[in-house]
Amino acid sequence: MTSTAQGELKQNPKTPVASRFSMRRQKIAEHRKSLPIASVEKRLIEEVQKNDILIIVGETGSGKTTQLPQFLFNAGFCRGGKMVGISQPSCIAAVTVAKRVAEECDVQLGQRVGYSIMFDDTTCSSTSLKYMTDALLLREALVDPLLSRYSVIIVDEAHERTVHTDVLLALLKKVQLDRSIGNKGLEVEAKTNDEIGGVLRGCQISPLKLIIMSASLDARVFSEYYGGAKALHVQGRQFTVDILYTVHPVTDYAALVITIFQMRLNLLKDLSKRKILPLAIFSALPSDQLMRVFAPAPIGFRKVVLATNIAETSITIPGIRYVVDPGRVKARTYDPSKGMETLDAVPTSKAQVLQRSGHAGREGPGKCFRLYRQREFEKLEDSTKPEIKRCNLSNVILQLKALGYDDIFGFDFIDKPSRSAIVKALAELHLLGALTDDCKLEKPAGDQMARLPLDPVYSRALILANQSNCLEEMLITVAMLSVESIFYDPPREKREEARTSRNHFASVEGDHLTYLGVYRESNEFLEAENSEEAEVDQTLRKWCKDNFVNSRSLKHARDIYRKIRGNVEQMGFNVSSCGNDMLEYRRCLAASFFLIAAQRQMDGTYRALESGEIVHIHPTSVLFRSKPECVFFNELMQTSKKYIKNLTRIDPVWSAHHHYNTEE
Ligand code: ADP
Ligand code: MG
Repeated sequence: MTSTAQGELKQNPKTPVASRFSMRRQKIAEHRKSLPIASVEKRLIEEVQKNDILIIVGETGSGKTTQLPQFLFNAGFCRGGKMVGISQPSCIAAVTVAKRVAEECDVQLGQRVGYSIMFDDTTCSSTSLKYMTDALLLREALVDPLLSRYSVIIVDEAHERTVHTDVLLALLKKVQLDRSIGNKGLEVEAKTNDEIGGVLRGCQISPLKLIIMSASLDARVFSEYYGGAKALHVQGRQFTVDILYTVHPVTDYAALVITIFQMRLNLLKDLSKRKILPLAIFSALPSDQLMRVFAPAPIGFRKVVLATNIAETSITIPGIRYVVDPGRVKARTYDPSKGMETLDAVPTSKAQVLQRSGHAGREGPGKCFRLYRQREFEKLEDSTKPEIKRCNLSNVILQLKALGYDDIFGFDFIDKPSRSAIVKALAELHLLGALTDDCKLEKPAGDQMARLPLDPVYSRALILANQSNCLEEMLITVAMLSVESIFYDPPREKREEARTSRNHFASVEGDHLTYLGVYRESNEFLEAENSEEAEVDQTLRKWCKDNFVNSRSLKHARDIYRKIRGNVEQMGFNVSSCGNDMLEYRRCLAASFFLIAAQRQMDGTYRALESGEIVHIHPTSVLFRSKPECVFFNELMQTSKKYIKNLTRIDPVWSAHHHYNTEE
C-alpha cells in the first residue's frame, strides 16, 4: 500500500478497503488484457457471427473458458434474456470458473454469471453466462428439447471426450438443425392467424450458435464430425520446461512426497526457506474451499497443490512453476462381458503427460518431474481412449431413449461404442424395468428413471421404495451411497475410540442400514439441539466430530437428499417412511439391488453372481468380519485386489420370496 493510502486511513477508515478493491480490480483488468485471447476478441466475435459452428483450439491458460463467454456477452449475444451456456466435463471446473468470471465481471455469483451442477444450482432468471456440467446440459434437453433459452452453447474441453460430451456433440447437432428448420418451416406454412402467432413465437427461437473448444491440437475430428466446420487456433504462451525422469521405476506414491521435499531441499536452494502450504483440489471439496488453490501463496510459503487430472486442462492454477507427474490417472474401465465397471489408476497417455508438464511453463521457464523412466514415456499411448468406449452405457442410453432417439445402433456418435456394450446396456435397462420388451421407453418408469439425476439402479430403487412405503429411507440410502466415505479415519491414537463409535452404528445387516442409522441419528441430534438455521452446519460438524463421521460427506449427503427428494416430489411421489419396520426396507433394498449380489465361497472369498469374478469384502464394510453367506453390493473397486463396498447381507429365502411377490 502506498503512503498516501495509509495517510487516508486516518481520515477515512473506508478508503483502504475501497482502494484494496480497486487495486484488485485493476490487477484483474490487467491480467485479462494480457491473456493471449484478448488480442483476438474482435476476430473471434466476427467468426462466431459468420459461422454457426466454430471450433476453437488453444493452449491451456490462453483464456478460452473465462474470456470467450464475456466477449459474447459484450457483443450482445445475451440480449432479450438469452443465455450463453458453457459446458464443462467436471463440477470443479464449472464451479471454479464461474466464480472467477463473476469476480472478473464484478458481479455477484448467481446473477449475471452462475453455475449449475447436479446438486447445486446458483443461477437465476437474470443469469446470462451459465457454466454447467455436460451431464446437466444433457438433462436440460430432456425438459427443453430445443434448448431455447440459449443463443450460444460452448462445449468446452471437448478433447476430454467424456461420455456426456460425446452425446452432447451429437445432440447439439440435432438441436441446431431443429431450430433452423423449425423457423423456416413455420414461415412457409403459416396461413391462419393462429399459425401466424406460431410463426412469431417460432421466430423468437433464433438459430443456435455452437462453439466447440479444445486444448489438444487435433481439431480435425471435430471439424469432420460437423461437416468441415471452421477451426480457429488461439496462440498460447509457453516457456521452456525442463523434463526430468527418474532413473529407477517408481512404484508408490511415497515417491511423490519425497520428490516434493527434494525439490524444496536440493533443487531450489535459493528459495528453500519457504514453508510448504499443502492444498488439494478434488470434487468432494465444498465449493467455497475449491477456490483456495487459486489464491497466491502467502509470503514465506510455497503452494503445493495436489490435484487430479482436473488440473490437466480444465482449470489453470496461476503461478505453477514445478509439476510432479506420477504418470497415472484414475480412469473408468468397463468390461461388458462381465458387466463390471471399475475405477483404476492407469498410465496416462502422452497427450495427458504433455498437458501436465505444460503447466510448469505458463508464466516462465519451469520444471517437470516425471516419476517414471523415459523409456516408459515412449511406450505410452498417444491419446486417451474416449470414455464412451470404456464405460457402462446404461445411463446415457436411457437418456437418449427419453430424448426420443430409439435407434441407438444408428445414433450419430462421434466414436461408436462397441455393439456388445450397447446390447449389454439395453439388456440391463430392460431388467431394471426402464425399457419394454421391444426396447422402447417403459412409461412411466423409464421416463422417471431418466429424469432422476442418478444411476438407473438407484432411480429404480426409489421407484420400488415408493411402492413399498419406505421412500424416505431409500432417499437417505441413495444419498449416503452417492458420497465419499461416511466414516472418518482418525490418527492412530484415536483409532480405538473411533472403532467403538463405529461399532455403535454398525448394523449386523450391513452398510446400508448402518448409513441409514447414522443419518437418522444425526437428524435426531439436530432436532434435539433445535439449532437455528444458521447454526445447523456447526451443530452437525460437532456431532460428526464426536461420532467420527466425515462431516463433509454427511453434509453432502444431506444436500443430495434434499435435491432428489425435490425431484421425486415433482414427479408426484409421496415421501412416506416405514418407521421402524426394517424388514420392509430390507426387502426393498434386496429387490432393488438383486442384480449385484455375491456369494461366499469355501475359502472365504466371494463370487460375484453375474460376472463370476472373485471379490473381497472391503475392510471398511461393517460385514468385513462377519462374512455372511450372501450379500449384495453397490460398489466394486480394484486396488491390490477386487473389493466390494457398501454391502448388505441377503437372506436367500426371503429375497426369493419377495421376488416371487413382485412377479405377482
Ligand atoms: P483456458 O480455458 O484457455 O485454458 P482459462 O480461461 O481457464 O484458460 O484461464 C485463463 C487465465 O485465467 C489463466 O492464466 C489462469 O491462470 C487464470 N485463472 C483462471 N481461473 C482463475 C482463478 N480462479 N483465479 C485466478 N486466476 C485464474
Ligand atoms: Mg479452459
